Amino acid sequence: MTQPSRRPLILGNWKMNTTLDEAVALASAVGAIADAHPSIDIGILPPAIWLVPLHKNRHDASMLKIGAQDASPHENGACTGELSVAMLAPWCDYILAGHSERRQHHHETDEIIRAKLDAIVAIDCIPVLAVGESEQERDAGNAARVVARQLDGALAGPPAADLTRIVVAYEPVWAIGTGKSASAQDAREMAKVIRGWLAQQDQQAADTIRILYGGSMKPDNATEILANPDVDGGLIGGASLSAGDFEKIVVAASN
Ligand code: PEP
Repeated sequence: MTQPSRRPLILGNWKMNTTLDEAVALASAVGAIADAHPSIDIGILPPAIWLVPLHKNRHDASMLKIGAQDASPHENGACTGELSVAMLAPWCDYILAGHSERRQHHHETDEIIRAKLDAIVAIDCIPVLAVGESEQERDAGNAARVVARQLDGALAGPPAADLTRIVVAYEPVWAIGTGKSASAQDAREMAKVIRGWLAQQDQQAADTIRILYGGSMKPDNATEILANPDVDGGLIGGASLSAGDFEKIVVAASN
């Protein structure tokens, strides 16, 4: 799948939330929002168990994108509880890798995340790589260094595929689910760090890749963060569980 160059992208990461009925209702509401905003790519990352029913419920002309929150780096085999990219591919437009909750709670290293990205780019899905520093790392003045190290770990070296095929989400760990978001200025600076790193690898990738901000983005801070020309959209956690809040963020992205 090729990337629409720098088109705004708003993705809702539902994490481990929603019953099937809630997921169907929320996806239908977000589908209507997507159809009403055709100039923006709008997607949901529901729990993997809901990917098939939501994909089947999506009407043929729907603008709504659907994606997975994670994927195994392995093709098949003794990986109890995991889903391979080949299993996810028929139901997904996007697959996320490197979310800080996976890095922290599942001890995913840059090497594992690299293997996941390599697996995702080999199929017809757009990988979304999440990077971001902890509060301690930011306080020590190391935010840019940490993010560059994560980009090195996940993307440097011979690319498994064209770098222009990915999306990068800058998600400071201290802002995820905490209600504290990065300032628009910090989000801009970190997006510049990411674009600068990309430019060193491949200028075309730096010019075309979409960089999202994630971390307590809400209707009241979305306009300021999304006004930044270096930020091409958002990865939204908590606020994506309310169709009303999600729509306000989409409207902020379209202004
Ligand atoms: C996330 O989980 O990617 C996220 C950004 O969560 P929240 O918006 O709730 O901080």
